[in-house]
Amino acid sequence: MLIDLRSDTVTKPTAAMRKAMADAEVGDDVYKEDPTVNRLEELAADMLGKEAALFVTSGTQGNQIAVLTHTAPGQEILLEAESHIFYYEAGAVAALAGVQTRTIPGIRGAMEPKLVEAAIRGEDIHFPATALLCLENTHNRAGGAVLPLSYMAVLYDLAKRRHVAVHMDGARLFNAAVALGVDVRAIAEHVDTVQICLSKGLGAPVGSILAGPKVWIAKARKWRKRLGGGMRQAGVIAAPGILALTEMVERLAEDHAHAKQLAYALAEMKGITIRPEHIETNIVIFDVAKTGRSADECVVALKNEGILATSFGPTCIRLVTHKDIGQQDIETAIHRMNNIFSQ
Ligand SMILES: *Cc1c(COP(=O)(O)O)cnc(C)c1O
Repeated sequence: MLIDLRSDTVTKPTAAMRKAMADAEVGDDVYKEDPTVNRLEELAADMLGKEAALFVTSGTQGNQIAVLTHTAPGQEILLEAESHIFYYEAGAVAALAGVQTRTIPGIRGAMEPKLVEAAIRGEDIHFPATALLCLENTHNRAGGAVLPLSYMAVLYDLAKRRHVAVHMDGARLFNAAVALGVDVRAIAEHVDTVQICLSKGLGAPVGSILAGPKVWIAKARKWRKRLGGGMRQAGVIAAPGILALTEMVERLAEDHAHAKQLAYALAEMKGITIRPEHIETNIVIFDVAKTGRSADECVVALKNEGILATSFGPTCIRLVTHKDIGQQDIETAIHRMNNIFSQ
């Protein structure tokens, strides 16, 4: 049996989600007449503590609509140097929004507030205007690291003082909330707008939510239309999204426990470098340099043993736990990895 630890995006909809899709009441959502989409958007806005929300096709689309709605061409946005918006969205902020990016290195996904402050432009005829600060929580390339609430508060104060909007790429925000033991709104209150993925650990087949102030979401809705994201009887895909938000949040703790179990086991294996105490959520990144093999070679070796993993740089590998991976799979995966990394 293949154990697929490439990403939490590989999760399949639950039986209840399939049924909800079949039974969903629908209408034309471009006319705002899909009752299921409306219900999902109201629920998501409420959970995130925002005035309004918009159902979008993907996390990337949600982030891009956010950048488009917050900025004008020629402005500058501040991002953590390994953030998804900068690293993994095919250059969309340049291609679509026409903004320039200014990246700031982070430590476990967190940019030093002093560096952020220093990067915000003052008034000068030569300068682009700093329009937006983007945060990522949890931070994918930082191994699922959670941004502390106190840190979020400091950055938001700073951004407000300097009149810079804050958008959070919260693709895995529920993982952060579960790890911190707080409601998502306690995190989202420290940003103006937020994107969350329904299709990762929460298990829905497609879709993301963009949430923020009502007037802002109205503008975002227009950008969604321009990008071809205005969908018709979208209730069939919004219905599992409602279950993602109502039924699938608490179980994320299991994924976090599984990730820790993998990390502590990996720490004992020959040639593997990892700090298991850094694993806070469902992502495990480890370094294979001391095995004498490259990440790509190790990914092939893992695949030959029935484990699917992602190469994450020349010597790093990423494993992601999720709802379709049980305790038995974790034990089997550890057993198989022991075989590979003892040779
Ligand atoms: C997956 C992910 C996205 C993008 O979501 P898609 O639905 O795959 O477009 C954005 N940000 C982060 C941090 C992600 O992990």
